[in-house]
Amino acid sequence: MEDCLFCKIVSGDVESDILYEDEQVIAFQDIKPQAPVHLLIVPKKHISTLLDLKEEDNNLVGHIYQVANKLAQQMEIAKDGFRVVSNCKEAGGQTVFHIHYHLLGGRNLQWPPG
Ligand code: C5P
Repeated sequence: MEDCLFCKIVSGDVESDILYEDEQVIAFQDIKPQAPVHLLIVPKKHISTLLDLKEEDNNLVGHIYQVANKLAQQMEIAKDGFRVVSNCKEAGGQTVFHIHYHLLGGRNLQWPPG
């Protein structure tokens, strides 16, 4: 999608610190980390919000969680625990309208979130 920041990161038009890439997703360091480990796992396919997910995306979403599993181990936050979260629309805290999953860890995270 032309005006989408994360599509531009996927295509390489906008720079990011990519830690993982496969045919379906990329994962990169969040530019404004909220925890010692804060990665974003982003599907290459443009999907604006969680509400736009179709049944055909079920494998993709499962794959994202497998990537989170792998990256949590790689980043050494698996032992203590971590959080995977996806914000949906303005009241949910979504600021980039291309779905993404925050992988956060490396400190004790609070609940509920603000
Ligand atoms: O859930 P939300 O849509 O707010 O998450 C977007 C995330 O993208 C933010 O955590 C923000 O710091 C991150 N971001 C980034 N690189 C950019 C722009 C935003 O990592 N160039």
